[in-house]
Amino acid sequence: MSAKPKIAVYWTGSCGGCDVSFLEVGEAIVEILSRVEVVFWPALVDVKRSDLEAMPPGSIDYALINGVIRTEENREMAEILREKSKYIVAYGACAHLGGVPSLADLWGKEEIFRAVFGEGFRPGPPPGVDGEARLPDLSEKAVPLEEVVRVDYAVPGCPPPAPLISRFFTALFSGEMPDPPYVFANVKALCEECPRERHDDRRIERIVRPHEIVPDPNKCLLEQGLICMGPVTRGGCNALCPVAGMPCTGCLGPTPEAGDPGAAMLSALASLVRFEDEGEEYFAREDEVLERLADPLGTFYMYAFGKFRRRS
Ligand code: SF4
Ligand code: SF4
Repeated sequence: MSAKPKIAVYWTGSCGGCDVSFLEVGEAIVEILSRVEVVFWPALVDVKRSDLEAMPPGSIDYALINGVIRTEENREMAEILREKSKYIVAYGACAHLGGVPSLADLWGKEEIFRAVFGEGFRPGPPPGVDGEARLPDLSEKAVPLEEVVRVDYAVPGCPPPAPLISRFFTALFSGEMPDPPYVFANVKALCEECPRERHDDRRIERIVRPHEIVPDPNKCLLEQGLICMGPVTRGGCNALCPVAGMPCTGCLGPTPEAGDPGAAMLSALASLVRFEDEGEEYFAREDEVLERLADPLGTFYMYAFGKFRRRS
């Protein structure tokens, strides 16, 4: 019998980026694939739901599921994988926190259909298909995996970056997996690993969007007025985006200390943004900060709306 860990990879409401992200590790993917037994990965091998259903309960060691839960089929597949697997891994921001797709919950299901397909659209069989074929129905909300099944681990990111993919497989192959639940990213904030210069007495005089300035290559982006989620977001990606000149958008999820990323970031900004009124400098109020943001929800909850919507 094979001693290799048996893994499954499956996408639910996914853009496909997470499935492709395994290639981020470069040539190491060859070694990873040689050390696991892939028993179910529809994007890679020809396997069907019936193959999965035929497997004994608990026969898969780790099922890595990416994507948000948006349809009844997503939910059913997550439940089957839960039954067949010893451990479930929420792979990527959508499975972990709801991700970008959960922002669609700002609108109802009917509004989404109307906006995308036009007035009067009703889901039905694809063109040319008769009989009982039908599209899976959308659920009312787009929810993270943990709202449907018990989740043991998370490899966060949109998609997960190479250092965190490597961290997961290194732990798996060493036989020293942490006790669940566990998130394969840092507990400390991204600012701790960001090489950009920041100052204790930093202040922000205006809030700008990335296309409005050419940022100084060395200074903290937040100090230059760009909303960088680094102070409240888990580190572990080697500050990929800030190093490249783009502010962090929060894809690894909030640190345990930050909790709700929107509330934590708003509070951080209110203590940094200083405006002037008749020559007098004063700290901005939270409502003034919000007024100057083009898209507060999309900025603060780009990946975590599905998880934190219910708590606020
Ligand atoms: S986490 Fe990002 S890359 Fe992965 S499925 Fe969601 S949107 Fe796509
Ligand atoms: S650029 Fe962003 S991640 Fe880097 S120090 Fe500034 S706020 Fe933190």
